[in-house]
Amino acid sequence: MTEPKITIETIPVGSLETNCYLVYDEGSRQAVIIDPGDEAERILALVNARQVTVKLIIHTHGHYDHTGASEALRRKTKARMLIHQGDLDLAGFTPEAFIHDGEIIFLGPFEFKVLHTPGHTPGGVTLVGKGFAFTGDTLFNSGIGRSDTTGGNETALWKSIREKLFTLPPETVIYPGHGPASTIGQEMKVSGP
Ligand SMILES: [Zn+2]
Ligand SMILES: [Zn+2]
Repeated sequence: MTEPKITIETIPVGSLETNCYLVYDEGSRQAVIIDPGDEAERILALVNARQVTVKLIIHTHGHYDHTGASEALRRKTKARMLIHQGDLDLAGFTPEAFIHDGEIIFLGPFEFKVLHTPGHTPGGVTLVGKGFAFTGDTLFNSGIGRSDTTGGNETALWKSIREKLFTLPPETVIYPGHGPASTIGQEMKVSGP
């Protein structure tokens, strides 16, 4: 079997410039949308331009700036919506399924491993693909997420980062919920083990 060619496109949406990610397989044209926080029409325009079929809408967590356009996109694409149960109250919608720590989400030829990384929110997750990870608001380029909002917990956040993220291969590219990409190795230098 040939390796799938995965393309990741970043769409900063809304006033907080939340990174919505369109992830798709070049061959099958199957796609996943991660964190559609706002600007559903703009996200749909890119989906149409790339001629991909959105199968899943996955949320790194339930904050509004990551979920604001989810219902609109679900209606338009008929994709299944996934979130960790711990953020159900925050999200304000009903997903098709919950995602759990250690679970692998299969989509056509590619897959994401779910790491439960609470601390920014109770149900925060990181989605790990082959060589990359979507870290949501848990870990950014040059900084960690906030833990002072509702449901936040600084101890839990550091535990998630040290035990789940800093144990990924250092060359893993991270795609955070806001701002530019980085790598696990780079962030270990910044935030230390
Ligand atoms: Zn957040
Ligand atoms: Zn955010």
